[in-house]
Amino acid sequence: MDGPLQPEKGAADAPFYLPQGDEIPVFTAAHENDLPVLLKGPTGCGKTRFVTHMAARLDRPLHTVACHDDLSAADLIGRYLLKGGETVWVDGPLTRAVREGAICYLDEVVEARKDVTVVLHPLTDDRRILPIDRTGEEIEAAPGFMLVASYNPGYQNILKTLKPSTRQRFISLEFTFPKPEHEIPVVARESGLSEERVKPLVRLANKLRDLKGQDLEEGVSTRLVVYAATLIRQGMPVERAIRVAMIEPLTDDADVKRGLLDLVTAVFG
Ligand code: ADP
Repeated sequence: MDGPLQPEKGAADAPFYLPQGDEIPVFTAAHENDLPVLLKGPTGCGKTRFVTHMAARLDRPLHTVACHDDLSAADLIGRYLLKGGETVWVDGPLTRAVREGAICYLDEVVEARKDVTVVLHPLTDDRRILPIDRTGEEIEAAPGFMLVASYNPGYQNILKTLKPSTRQRFISLEFTFPKPEHEIPVVARESGLSEERVKPLVRLANKLRDLKGQDLEEGVSTRLVVYAATLIRQGMPVERAIRVAMIEPLTDDADVKRGLLDLVTAVFG
């Protein structure tokens, strides 16, 4: 029975994800229509969790690649390797996803080398093909294949922005730090600390986020708030947990750190 009231396949055991808006229906529509998706937003605000959740919900395998400045097209596509004296072709994660009809998630895609974007172009238009120069193959993406990429527009690096010719091939969803009414239940659920005790941590996080661009390059992520709450739940004194999870990771500058600790005192008294 496939009535409208039936939960989607996979939704029940998908990893916990609390939506901030209409990202679930938008992603689902993109998947149904073979459209690639770009997730924009700061680090640690739920992009990866969202993709993991959606892959389970849509019942698709997921291949995640954390991009870095040495990552080349060959790392994604595959290469010839020597195995037991023989040279064999080994698919990379993108090729595997294209063959299987899986979701391929390129996390922080702008970090990767330039030749990566060239590979993405024929995959992100209606051809949906992956040409493999080394083997002479041209693979058509299996049904269900979806390309998802993320990037953080916050890092002000002119050399590392997505070119319009690439970004205009993706539907784009903007992620921001969740509103307190979302972040409190997320942190409580992830850490096991009560919502009452999570509240001041989220208040502090938002005060720290207000400093972005002045003293801090990047605001404190939900991930770090979850870390602080986890340490507190496990018995670490609140002040110490905040220091190691929400202050030290943000800056190395002693003056800035002192300013941040003043904010802690202002929130926790
Ligand atoms: P990103 O990929 O944006 O860097 P992640 O998806 O890894 O960030 O998120 C970091 C952590 O924050 C997750 O492991 C999860 O604990 C938590 N988180 C953030 N937003 C949500 C959300 N909306 N629902 C559930 N967990 C979330």
